[in-house]
Amino acid sequence: MLDPERLAPQLREGALRARADLVSLLLELSAIDAPSGGGDALGRFEERLAAELRELGAEVRRHPGPVGAQLEARLGPPAGEPILVLCHYDTVWPVGTAAERPAHVADGRVHGPGTYDMRGGIVAALGAARLLGEQLERPLRMLFTPDEETGSATSRELIVRLGRGAAAVLVTEPPLPGGALKTARKGWATYVVETLGRAAHAGIEPERGVSAIDELVDALLAIRALADPAAGTTINIGRIEGGELPNVVAPRALAIVDVRASRVEEQQRIDAALTGLTALREGATIAVAKRHGRPPMERTPQIAQAAVRAIALASLLGIELGEGAVGGTSDANLLAPLGIPVIDGLGPDGRGAHALDEQVIVDSLVERTALIALLIAAL
Ligand SMILES: [Zn+2]
Repeated sequence: MLDPERLAPQLREGALRARADLVSLLLELSAIDAPSGGGDALGRFEERLAAELRELGAEVRRHPGPVGAQLEARLGPPAGEPILVLCHYDTVWPVGTAAERPAHVADGRVHGPGTYDMRGGIVAALGAARLLGEQLERPLRMLFTPDEETGSATSRELIVRLGRGAAAVLVTEPPLPGGALKTARKGWATYVVETLGRAAHAGIEPERGVSAIDELVDALLAIRALADPAAGTTINIGRIEGGELPNVVAPRALAIVDVRASRVEEQQRIDAALTGLTALREGATIAVAKRHGRPPMERTPQIAQAAVRAIALASLLGIELGEGAVGGTSDANLLAPLGIPVIDGLGPDGRGAHALDEQVIVDSLVERTALIALLIAAL
């Protein structure tokens, strides 16, 4: 293995020299909208990305899917346990956003939609591969997915397959404010709770009706009682609908419930309780459907060990790297429960994910490029 102590200053200088190129690539990529859900815009981004990867000497494999293709890039020697760098190229911004609010540089930052989540991470990953170039002594896989923002339904199989074969997985999502790694993330699941009853005139013969709304209200009270914030388990009833008119006993009602849990057992407890709900009223029915979810990313021994190593390597670059927990999910949640050493939050520091003030700090973009390169070489 390359000696990290000798490699670190070289990577740092290389990243500093690449500063202008990193910024211009970030501006260029941020000029292409790529909203989750497929379509032409996603295809344009994917083509641009593939061209960039081929220019780096990568063998690019395209995995087509119903909401866009996953791009897999292979670099370095063919034999050995690879490092996997995991990025998503979809954003939450619809077509037209890049033209409406073009990315630009101001105050040492690149501002614009998608810069922080996660074009900056993509640029740092590409820059890292470029910095290592011929020095790459182990296989490097890079995976770029099109549907992370909507739950990775079509990408999760490939993510897990490539993750299982990797020595470690580097995820270039935004870090915690200040740049710390994300070594624990809550799990997420959403459920649709639907109740059915029987309509009747509320004045003339209410006894003939069965209220789906009453049934739903009782179910929601029970659901709310399942929360345990002290254990990291929170429940948000994000939407309710149902009923028809004030004088009609409601025949149907529905709620959408968002569940966050820090621990796998907690997520399972809530899942069992929700899917086990039964109607309290004769003539009513209740159906609970799990819409999608990601398991909690607990700070497993593998993750803790990888973080310790990453923090030590970062110090060789003069970076004081911290770590912490966060509520939101990423594709790292899919890998953590499998015992895969995953390091998340490696993208550049900035702020405003999914917000109008989205931005990336250029100094951090440079720093992360060197850091990702060092991790690929020496983790
Ligand atoms: Zn992201």
